[in-house]
Amino acid sequence: MIVPSKDYARQHRPLLAELLAEVEAVLLADDPILGAALASFEADFATWVGVRHAIGVNSGTDALVLTLRALRLPVSGEVIVPANTFFATVAAVLKNGLVPVLVEPARDSMNLDVAAVGAALSARTVAVLPVHLYGLLCPMAELTPLAARAGVPLVEDAAQAHGAVDVAGRRAGSFGIAGCFSFHPSKNLGACGDGGAVTTDDASLLAELAVLRNLGKTSKYAFGRVAENSKLDTLQAALLRVKLRHLDAWVARRRELARIYDARLRGVGDLTLPLADPGHAHHLYVVRTRARDRLRAHLARRGVSTGLHYPIPPHLQELDVDLGYRRGGLPLTEELADTVLSLPMSHELTFAEIEHVCDQVVEAFDG
Ligand SMILES: *Cc1c(COP(=O)(O)O)cnc(C)c1O
Repeated sequence: MIVPSKDYARQHRPLLAELLAEVEAVLLADDPILGAALASFEADFATWVGVRHAIGVNSGTDALVLTLRALRLPVSGEVIVPANTFFATVAAVLKNGLVPVLVEPARDSMNLDVAAVGAALSARTVAVLPVHLYGLLCPMAELTPLAARAGVPLVEDAAQAHGAVDVAGRRAGSFGIAGCFSFHPSKNLGACGDGGAVTTDDASLLAELAVLRNLGKTSKYAFGRVAENSKLDTLQAALLRVKLRHLDAWVARRRELARIYDARLRGVGDLTLPLADPGHAHHLYVVRTRARDRLRAHLARRGVSTGLHYPIPPHLQELDVDLGYRRGGLPLTEELADTVLSLPMSHELTFAEIEHVCDQVVEAFDG
């Protein structure tokens, strides 16, 4: 049995008639840039997240870059970021001339640690950037008052967290001044190419983002900023609007598959399983083991494709700028880089496929 990490055709096949109808409508509508389908998707996505506004941009990275820019944070100000995030989070800070302060995660959740954020806050802090890593919401009930007391905005990196909720059912992307989403095809809600969005209740932030995603245009022939061209394609928005109608069911399915992993893999070898949280959106199902490379090779031989998120943390990347960290400087983050393994997780996977993965993991430790 072959169990893929990603199979976009499998996701698209049952939706093909609906998706093609949308493509046809866009092709015949004559408004391919900032078209009606984009505005319609933005309204639907805002409602789904539980905020007033959403604005489409061309990637999750740009959602972060443009949001940090729109907030007009003081140059060289410090932004508190989890050390074990995807590189784009850190890059977005650097691209704005800001200084990423990397904090170690909490060991059990692998997510942003409230005490570590508290310790990292200083007079130079200008923002806190929680990443809802792997689909688990950060402890927003504690982070929100912490940032408020420090007088700095919270910007959520919700690129992996479409559908992550707190105990009250409040969704990722609705807690901070802004929520930054990616629609990279691999995410819980994925386009057929790059895409992203910012969610917010703040009308003036929305207005600034509308200028920043559109070359700095303030009206048809007038430019007020030197800015990117970073709009979400109308065609992608039309496809995303179809998929959004299925997203609740898809996230529920991810949770169902995660429960099977939880039940079958608990106590196997030295595995540490993801924190059990009913609000987890399970973008990824990430286990930890000291035998990571051996397990990964065993699974590959048995047709099970796995991923690493992420084997090289941002502070150990060989960059054209010095982040000011050395190997050994963030020991827990470095331990995670060596021990994390992402098992196949996607709403399209069958129970039989998940059982097969579990059988092979058990065999790798027992056999
Ligand atoms: C995917 C991702 C991004 C970047 O999104 P793109 O759409 O690929 O630019 C940013 N942060 C995190 C945590 C991500 O997983």
